[in-house]
Amino acid sequence: MQLDTKLTHLGRGDDNLNVRPVNAPVMRASTILFKNHDAWQATRKARETQRVLSYGARGTCTNFELEKLLCELEGGYRAQLFPTGLASLAMVLLNYASAGAHFIITDAIYGPVRAICEKFLKNVDIQVDFIKADASDVESKIRPNTKLILCESPGSILYEIIDLPKLCEIAHTHNIPVAIDSTYSSGYLLHPIKLGVDIVVIAATKYLSGHSDVTMGAVIINEKEWKNFDKLPEIFGFTASPDDAYLVLRGIRTLGVRLREHEKSAKKIVEFLQSRKEIKTIFYPTLKTHPNHDVFIRDHLGANGMITIEFNDGISKESAIKFVDDLELFSIGASWGGYESLATVTVPPRTASDWSKRGPFVRFHIGLEDVGDLIADLARALDKILK
Ligand SMILES: *Cc1c(COP(=O)(O)O)cnc(C)c1O
Repeated sequence: MQLDTKLTHLGRGDDNLNVRPVNAPVMRASTILFKNHDAWQATRKARETQRVLSYGARGTCTNFELEKLLCELEGGYRAQLFPTGLASLAMVLLNYASAGAHFIITDAIYGPVRAICEKFLKNVDIQVDFIKADASDVESKIRPNTKLILCESPGSILYEIIDLPKLCEIAHTHNIPVAIDSTYSSGYLLHPIKLGVDIVVIAATKYLSGHSDVTMGAVIINEKEWKNFDKLPEIFGFTASPDDAYLVLRGIRTLGVRLREHEKSAKKIVEFLQSRKEIKTIFYPTLKTHPNHDVFIRDHLGANGMITIEFNDGISKESAIKFVDDLELFSIGASWGGYESLATVTVPPRTASDWSKRGPFVRFHIGLEDVGDLIADLARALDKILK
């Protein structure tokens, strides 16, 4: 089955029923009832190895359908939903946390992950090294106590690209699992497990839901690293709501169509931006000038709707802010991956490389509006800052 067929046909409930709705229904539950003590105990036993209905907080059948679909998309062994993308990343770090452990994280990691390191891991004596965004210096940072490599590719804000097969080969030689934040690709544009990665994290908040009305995270894992992942929500006592799982299942059906449209419009906007003299750099991975562009093309089906620009030296941060304020069809807001266009003045949070003298940067999410309208809006707001 190709990706678009999987997105249409999988995760839709029990297809052996004679009569059924198109979509798996929302199953809301806390208590699950068992016919007798034996049935209860059998479920508890089964829960150790399978995804079975046992208690609402462990997920209901609605959650399981989404987990199955994500597993199929990524080629994983099992998947686990979490309440947010950030919680998923935190749980991955926690699952490998032990006294005296060392983690390696690439510089382009989603910014708030740094707070987990600073405010929590540091206090429990876990050391973290941030390495180059393309992970090219990973080998020199590996220590005997390195327990996990967490990366993001394409990276947040600047879309840095990692040669994943190469990174995984180095990591696995040292018996270190590799986790990736693959929210950029969202189960569609890249399949990291097929390239050797052990653990994939996706903020379903973004393209999977696609409508800016739900937060959720998912971790999809190969068999070797599955270990306790399904125990984590139980141990820490959080869950993902079946209503939210339903919304993500509803959004995910159009993931392929939406991503193709986001990319098509983004590419037209990149072309337009290239014609503007206010802009020094455009960060978009299908550009031949983008660092590691060849690796991107080799491994990805395409790019998404994210574009970041760096203004020319003569343009101040205040002008960049005015530009964003002047846009009418681009709203200001965190997150992305919905149907709507966004623009924010931003600073890439990096410590293994110095961007302090660069910028100002504006990050766009190109939505599903008419691209001509978007370009006209950008042109009008750009003309104003030069005046
Ligand atoms: C948004 C985002 C997250 C966090 O997702 P939330 O659901 O908002 O917690 C994680 N990683 C990346 C790359 C993101 O863009």
